[in-house]
Amino acid sequence: MSGGLKKSRTNLSYQVKSIFTGAKLTDEDWERLEETLIGADVGMDTTMEIVDHVRNRVKEEQAFEAEELMGILRDEISEQLRKVTEEDDLLKIDPPVVFLVVGVNGTGKTTTIGKLAQYLKDRPARVMLVAADTFRAAAIEQLQHWADRVGVDIVKHQRGADPAAVVYDAIQSMRADRRDFALVDTAGRLHTYVNLMEELKKVKRVAIREAGEQMTVKTLLVLDATTGQNGIIQAKLFHEAVGLDGLVLTKLDGTAKGGIVLAVQKELGIPIVMVGTGEQVQDLGPFSAQEFAAALLE
Ligand code: GDP
Repeated sequence: MSGGLKKSRTNLSYQVKSIFTGAKLTDEDWERLEETLIGADVGMDTTMEIVDHVRNRVKEEQAFEAEELMGILRDEISEQLRKVTEEDDLLKIDPPVVFLVVGVNGTGKTTTIGKLAQYLKDRPARVMLVAADTFRAAAIEQLQHWADRVGVDIVKHQRGADPAAVVYDAIQSMRADRRDFALVDTAGRLHTYVNLMEELKKVKRVAIREAGEQMTVKTLLVLDATTGQNGIIQAKLFHEAVGLDGLVLTKLDGTAKGGIVLAVQKELGIPIVMVGTGEQVQDLGPFSAQEFAAALLE
């Protein structure tokens, strides 16, 4: 993960270091720290909370050395992240599990499914892909490509088929073949937003009904980290419409603003399950609050 976070790190770390110089911090320095965090997409409320806590600790501990201050800030950031992430870990749920993967086109949904398939297969586990974005023929082909590449089976229908019917079939075959994981690709764009959400709701309803009590169904949203606050608005809309259990934050390698991770946690209260840090199959890993905070402020 650290390699892909280089941009975020360089930027935030560099700016924070220029504030923590070893001299006693003035009110202006604290303001600059606030501005730096907000500028890195951390979000206003979270920034205020972090800076307040850091300021109190610095006072209590009479800390002034740059390294000490950095350590306190790092602790505080991982504390904020831990609040949400460690409550449940979707990757540890006992199989069989159906992951419905939702998100706007272009966020990296298909790529994430491919990477996640490889990640789970390596466990080892029996993984299956499900092509429930039937709106675009290219989406079915792209998923087939990933299935071939990773070496897992795929359930697909013709373009234009009912996505809920694809999911129905997939769950039957998952049960018959004793698969551990089904990764369901869904549409990220339809004629209208309302249609899209109605389709996703139906897919989820059918998945939960067919999964019964023996299987767990979880809904993951793929979010592009480079979209900043827009991404958060997107996530809120999906959460209201279909209900989300976890997030996968992609393209963290492409943003100088790793702070989006904090804003997402705070504003949505949904755990980040994994992060994508590149276009290759290995560029996906479980999210660790501590590692992330350390990498961000290395
Ligand atoms: P979808 O439309 O949501 O299914 O998006 P795709 O999976 O087709 O991805 C859109 C583009 O984003 C592709 O060019 C991917 O290679 C790229 N992409 C996906 N995940 C990442 C990531 O973590 N980092 C980078 N740099 N690119 C990514």
